[in-house]
Amino acid sequence: MPSESELRQELADVCRVLFRLHLVDYMGHPSVRIPGTDHVLIKPRHSEQIRAQDQIRPDDMAVIDLEGRFVSGLHPPPGERFIHTAIYRARPDVQAIVHTHQPMATFMSIGEVAIQPVLHVEGELVERPVPMWPHAMLVTDADLGAQLATALGDHRVVLLQGHGVASAAVTLGEAALQAIHLEHLAEAMWRVLAMGRQPRVIPLEELRQRSATGVAWPVRWAYYRQLAGCDE
Ligand SMILES: [Zn+2]
Repeated sequence: MPSESELRQELADVCRVLFRLHLVDYMGHPSVRIPGTDHVLIKPRHSEQIRAQDQIRPDDMAVIDLEGRFVSGLHPPPGERFIHTAIYRARPDVQAIVHTHQPMATFMSIGEVAIQPVLHVEGELVERPVPMWPHAMLVTDADLGAQLATALGDHRVVLLQGHGVASAAVTLGEAALQAIHLEHLAEAMWRVLAMGRQPRVIPLEELRQRSATGVAWPVRWAYYRQLAGCDE
């Protein structure tokens, strides 16, 4: 079980990777449960001090409870912390959540174009249709958070129409990787549709063959950490 200080570092790494990949700018935020507690570590709210997400340090993270109350930290939590608290309350299996404002997946939500399994590695994420919460409101209270958690259901990702994505997983790296994969799929869909063609949707048996024989997600996540310079 990772310690709180390890989770603070992982959270800073996720901020850095997503920022370097342009899936977040000053907005968007990851979070992780602190094991054995009902507290959550979350990237702080953007401010004049908290800006580019590749500059955020482990000590900058905020601690909140599952009601969304600010427990401790140098900086306050984001206004949209209820995305996180509502999903944690609804999904005991979820340990980590990433909220992004990633462009390609958001464009697909605006156009109401289904993101389908068109790439062999990423496709397994969307074997089932990606759910969408059809609102662009900021998720700034528990009721709106609960609506979003209901839209997510037992899926791993949910689109917030005209706004972004929430990705839920057992680890921070996996939650971030799901957001990255969804963006690749959305971009592939967009490029093929721009050709005036319909993309080939990969059949389930081909996706299953790929996932049985390819590398697991920690290997892919190690690549993205290196790409973002997390170990430098
Ligand atoms: Zn947002």
